[in-house]
This record gives sequence, C-alpha cells and structure tokens, in this order.
Amino acid sequence: MSITLPNFDNVLAAAKRLQGHAHRTPVLQSRSLNERLGLQVLFKCENFQRMGAFKFRGGFNALACFTPAQRQAGVVAYSSGNHAQAIALSAQILGIPATIVMPHDASPAKLAATRAYGAHIVGYDRYSEDAMAIAQGLAAECGMTFIPPFDHADVLCGQGTAALELFDEVGALDSLFVCLGGGGLLSGSLLSAQARAPHCQVFGVEPQAGNDVQQSLRRGERVRIATPQTIADGAQTPMVGALTFEIIRRHVSDIHTVTDAQLIEAMRFYAERMKMVVEPTGCLSLAAVVQAAPQMQGQRVGVIISGGNVDLARFAQLLCDPLPSAAA
Ligand SMILES: *Cc1c(COP(=O)(O)O)cnc(C)c1O
Repeated sequence: MSITLPNFDNVLAAAKRLQGHAHRTPVLQSRSLNERLGLQVLFKCENFQRMGAFKFRGGFNALACFTPAQRQAGVVAYSSGNHAQAIALSAQILGIPATIVMPHDASPAKLAATRAYGAHIVGYDRYSEDAMAIAQGLAAECGMTFIPPFDHADVLCGQGTAALELFDEVGALDSLFVCLGGGGLLSGSLLSAQARAPHCQVFGVEPQAGNDVQQSLRRGERVRIATPQTIADGAQTPMVGALTFEIIRRHVSDIHTVTDAQLIEAMRFYAERMKMVVEPTGCLSLAAVVQAAPQMQGQRVGVIISGGNVDLARFAQLLCDPLPSAAA
C-alpha cells in the first residue's frame, strides 16, 4: 500500500484558506522561566485560538476544501473533545450542515458549546459503541463527508499552520516541542519545520502512560495500546494515524514522555506565572522542556500550547488536590 504524503505547499495553501478566519495567536515569553531553565522559551499560544485550541485550523481547512456537493451534503465527525467544536464552528462559518457523534456523558459544557455552533449531535455510549463506526455509517447512509480528528491530509496541514506562524514570527529555533495524541499537530509542525527551520529539532511529547508513538517508532510500525489512564484527555488515543505516522517517522527527532504530576506542575506554572488557563494535554510540551532543560542550555526553544479547554471545576481540582482523584 502506498500513500501520498502531503507537503509544505499544502500547509501554505491551508494558511491562505485560514486567513481572516483563524486567529494569528500570540507568541509569549516568561523572563522568570527563561532564567530558571537557562534557555529562551517561546510559547505559541493556541489556547487563544478560536474555540480554544489549534483544532480549529485543521477542521476549517478540511471543510474549506469541500466541493460544492460535499458542502451541501454536510460533514460528520466524532469527538469527545476539541475536534467536535472545531468542526461545528468551521461548519457554521462556512454554512455547511454538521453532525457530531459525541458520548452521552460528554461534559455538559462541551455538549452545549457544540450545539451552540449549530451542529446536530448524535449521542452514543462510549463503553459499548464505536464512535468512528457510527460516524462512518452516517456518512455512508446520508452522503455526508466524514472528517477524522487527525489522520487526514487537510486536517494535519491545517494544524501545521501554527508552527508556520511561529517560525515566521521568531525565526529559526534550536528545538520545538509539540503535544502529541494522534499526531496531526506534530506531523503538520514537522512539515513547517522542514521548510522553515531545517536544523530545528522537533520533539513530540506523549503522556508516559500512553506512549504508543514512542513504542511505534521503536517497533517500526504502529502499535495499538489500551486507552491510557492520564489527565491528558486529548492524548488518550490508542493508536497514531497511518498518514501522521509516516510523516513523524521520517522527520521527528525524538519522542519525550511526561507524567501527570509533571503536567500539573506545568499547568500551575501557566496559571500562576503567565495568567493562562491551559488544559492538561496542552501542558505536555512545557513539561518535557522543563525535564530536558539541563541538556538544552542556551537554546531557543519553541513550545506549542495546544489548547485551553478545561472545565473550571476540574482545573481547580487538579491544582488544589493534585493526584489521587486526578485520574477520575
Ligand atoms: C487534539 C489535541 C491534541 C493532540 O493532537 P493530535 O493532532 O491528535 O496529536 C493535543 N492537545 C489538545 C488541546 C488537543 O485538542
């Protein structure tokens, strides 16, 4: 089986489609962190992206590529998290009907946000039903186009525009750290880094409990793991994408892993020192930089903060009452 891999031109085309729709998110620094770690850290703040995460970039780009017939028939997606809102909002902007398959027990805030963007929600039981099968069934039945959360060329090229903006704003970096679930954000970032900063080392960061990409790279093929127990709910993917893995295996420098305790430490830093709410999955990249800082002294390091969508009660609970109930 051969697959055609997307390239940097596709990322540039995505950037053009996103112009005027996605925010050009800020790049921030913390002087005290730089001094403490002995490096310069540049934060690309996708927690300030529309709907609160980088996923808007990939979702919007995918829908903007639809033919008129696809637009009319609509889009279907499944997600318990940010991809649902990304597709719902993008569809609303582009006037495309959207159906989102979401677990009945998704957080009320997420269900409400997705509904508020005008999407039709189809519920399912996450313990006994397969969301992807339901979404693909609806696509086949109703002629809608199914857009997966990461394993899709237009999605990953849209995600790559965040790193593109970062390089265009700050120039070359010595290294870049990217949060990693199914690999859409990392593979898109790799395409941008190859073109804009070929000497920059690019690292993916996974939860230690769910290091399927690290295992897959060692094995030379994709490894499926049981849904990992971690507070990084955006990185609970059991297996990396086929397309995303091909790009990652070719270009990534390495994969780092961090524990939930390290994620909470990063979350606390963002809240306390930078006055930002960052969701647990969005803390992966900084947690790995703190861990690797002794080996990177004097470097200029990019950190992509992937998103900021976390229930406030959960956020407070994680910060005040760290680990015992954290995996709940
Ligand atoms: C989806 C998501 C990720 C993981 O992205 P992939 O493209 O699946 O690797 C990381 N952080 C946040 C906030 C997300 O929503």
